[in-house]
Amino acid sequence: MTDIQSLFPETYEASRERFRKNLSVVQSRWSKANLFQHKLSGEEDLTIDWIYSDAAETNQKVFILSTGEHGVEGYVGSAMMQLFIEKHLPRLDPRTTGILLVHAINPWGMKYHRRGNRDNVDLNRTFLYNVEHDPDFNPAYDKIAGFLDPGKPLANLFLANIAYLIQLFWHIARMGMKNFRYALLLGQYRHHQGLYYGGKERPEETQVLMDLYKQTMRSYDQILHLDMHTGYGPRYQMSLVNSALDKNPSAHYEQRFNYPLVVAATADEFYAIRGDMVDYEYALWQNEFPEKRFFATAFEFGTLGNTLYGLFHSPRVMVHENRAYWHGAKNEKLLAQAKHGFEELFNPEAVDWKEKALADADQAFNGILSAEGYL
Ligand SMILES: [Zn+2]
Repeated sequence: MTDIQSLFPETYEASRERFRKNLSVVQSRWSKANLFQHKLSGEEDLTIDWIYSDAAETNQKVFILSTGEHGVEGYVGSAMMQLFIEKHLPRLDPRTTGILLVHAINPWGMKYHRRGNRDNVDLNRTFLYNVEHDPDFNPAYDKIAGFLDPGKPLANLFLANIAYLIQLFWHIARMGMKNFRYALLLGQYRHHQGLYYGGKERPEETQVLMDLYKQTMRSYDQILHLDMHTGYGPRYQMSLVNSALDKNPSAHYEQRFNYPLVVAATADEFYAIRGDMVDYEYALWQNEFPEKRFFATAFEFGTLGNTLYGLFHSPRVMVHENRAYWHGAKNEKLLAQAKHGFEELFNPEAVDWKEKALADADQAFNGILSAEGYL
């Protein structure tokens, strides 16, 4: 096993290069495997890369691993991809199992350490099945839009933090904690410099992934998809976040996967989302391929924790980073501080965090692959 630090890449380019080199590793067992790329429109060398192979004999089941839907989260995602390729991929059966490994769904965001894409679109609010990018959706966001994007440069972090806390408590007192979180996290399609913005139309990144999911679901009897994320939940225990559309309770999966923390992406257990990627796959499955066996979930590596501190401060660092991005900061130091806080939320530096994240992923890969019959 490679040493821990080196599993976590420094740049988008280094991560992509390592991923591409994995093709020969995969081909040693899946001789039909190929590397595919979608180059994003524009001048820059930004690509969504994936390695795909049919099963060698019959396409019974497929395993999908994807990373970097939220760009900046792709660094941890890349480490998990490498862990999977080195340690778990060799245990799958190439005769009956196809594979689809996706590097950096949002390459722009990964390269520039942002969650959204070049248009500030959170791709995980754009996987809409049979609904439009409705600008009038989530009207409650309007009430907190000015709080989340103050519309002027970041001038003083101390004062910005105090202003943030005062306004936060005011909004929570007025709306209630539950409604506040709902309006914040659900997704919105109106404020293009805001948080959790879903855009005005389907982004090209989303279209690429939708096509891939449809194609794989059509080709196999059984589909298993694990999608890598960071930022929410307890700092030292990765959460498996199931789709709100999955019918089984979380406790069922904790037992089934022999994994201690499973939650559903509902307002009660996690938070509600419109346009979630895994929800899209559930809708696709239920509507178009109900005869297949399907399971998908997200690995969510928490960073700030589930305490009040985590709940209040994760939006804070996102607000400051977003503000500095759009309106600038008074000086370089302030800009660096805003970026650093944000980076720690989605790509933490601490080695003990990385060790635990890898150990949790290892346990979850084992539990899920074995329960779903891939080992
Ligand atoms: Zn994410």
